[in-house]
Amino acid sequence: MKIRLIVAKNIGFCFGVRRSVETVEKLLESERKVYVAGELVHNERVLNELMKKGMVLFNPHSDLPKDLKAHTVVVRAHGLPPNIVKRLEDHAGRVVDTTCPIVMDMFKTAKGLAKKHDRLYVLGDPNHPEIVALRGYVEDPIVFKDRNELEKILKMRNDNPNLKVALISQTTKDFMTFQRSLELLVKHFKCVSVNRTICDITIKREEELGELSKKSDVVMVIGSEKSSNTNKLLRIARENTKAFLVSDPHDLRRRIPEFSDGMVVSMVSGTSTPDQLVDEMIDELKKICEEVDVVWSR
Ligand code: SF4
Repeated sequence: MKIRLIVAKNIGFCFGVRRSVETVEKLLESERKVYVAGELVHNERVLNELMKKGMVLFNPHSDLPKDLKAHTVVVRAHGLPPNIVKRLEDHAGRVVDTTCPIVMDMFKTAKGLAKKHDRLYVLGDPNHPEIVALRGYVEDPIVFKDRNELEKILKMRNDNPNLKVALISQTTKDFMTFQRSLELLVKHFKCVSVNRTICDITIKREEELGELSKKSDVVMVIGSEKSSNTNKLLRIARENTKAFLVSDPHDLRRRIPEFSDGMVVSMVSGTSTPDQLVDEMIDELKKICEEVDVVWSR
């Protein structure tokens, strides 16, 4: 079987996730055990490898590990509420905060907007760690996961249209949903401030995927089903063509019946997919298919 494989330009870890993972790797070179507050990255494979080297995950919102004082705690890229960071600083040997600067900017923007407005609307997944952290910066943000939910919330609250409201987003939400949500808010309220706090890196991935999916027979999205960012890419790809999620080379082998001779296959990934895994997927495809014409997007 011969296939043409187009590898996305924007693929592998984003800089925020890479920074967190590399920080933990570096610490593990000199420390036997390193604690991480929450799941470092939504990728089981990366987590398993680091756990073998001494990384220990714990829930910072619950009871703290008894030996925390003797160890370093890393705050992951999604960030934590300030009161939880303070609690860690009081109980850990030291705290290394790797909150992504783009996420931190979003928290600061939210805080500033909340002070000047009557309501802060946030497009986000209520249980996503970034939104959990945001609640530590802003009191009572109105969080909605998509336009439909926003519509229901607006009907239910029936707020005065003269209220001053602001809209922001979780950094990994999609731009189209943000835009549609803004249109809805503008219909209801007379004064809406908006700050597009979506990470440009994720927007670039969406735009590139939009183009690739139009010229592909199938899109392979590499990542974990636990990653909201990866699931979003899968949804976008499916608007134009067939698409599936693969987590590792073994998973890819299961998908081979979906390939056929002469196909154009595009490869993209979520921001929590390591570059090494992308290379392994390409190697696996080369083993499975007789001929793979690899095209690297530039
Ligand atoms: S997706 Fe963007 S905001 Fe989120 S961790 Fe990566 S670089 Fe930071």
